[in-house]
Amino acid sequence: MIKRLFASLKKAVFPEGLRCISCGREAVTGENGFCTECEMGLEAFNSAPPIEGIADYTAAWVYNDVTSRPIKKLKYNGARYLGKALGGMIEIPKEWHIDAVVPVPLYYRREWKRGFNQSRLIAEEICRRGGYKLAPELLIRYKDTKQQARLTEAGRKRNLKGAFAADEACRGLDILLIDDVRTTGATLGKCAEALLKEGAKNVYAATVCFAKPHTKARKQ
Ligand SMILES: [Zn+2]
Repeated sequence: MIKRLFASLKKAVFPEGLRCISCGREAVTGENGFCTECEMGLEAFNSAPPIEGIADYTAAWVYNDVTSRPIKKLKYNGARYLGKALGGMIEIPKEWHIDAVVPVPLYYRREWKRGFNQSRLIAEEICRRGGYKLAPELLIRYKDTKQQARLTEAGRKRNLKGAFAADEACRGLDILLIDDVRTTGATLGKCAEALLKEGAKNVYAATVCFAKPHTKARKQ
């Protein structure tokens, strides 16, 4: 009864109806936007291997059937509103000192085709909640790299060679890099390398999901 009353109240506030951000069913959703059934499939991020150049790393979830769906909807179905939902799931450790938040950039042609950079939408929400400064101008992607998922770790590194360049304005700053999914961390590592080369002090990284490299569920 109370559940139903709560649902109708929610409906009054969100007249379009509430849908689970993963399975898409109309349901009463938890604080992260997942229905009860999908919530049971969530696997909280615990730890991941370190990435060269990244001082510390965190994620909200392990990439799986439940968490991959909203990310794919955001990237491939243009569901921009999910950027806010996904960004809201990432808890940035209090002990990280952050001067600027930098979303992992897309190559300009890819961003133009998609109409937005999903990492930027996620980063915007992190900045809104944490009061951080968003600074996408500090990092540029010069190369449209091949889909990383089918490459080996060495192949991923080769594929990303010379892909990113940082602006010298990052000198002396503690930077937080944001991306949707991290697998081996090769992309984040290359971004950090470019920022450190221009004099950034520390580079931290956070993603919505960590995809365990040995699983089938990998970044695009
Ligand atoms: Zn669901």
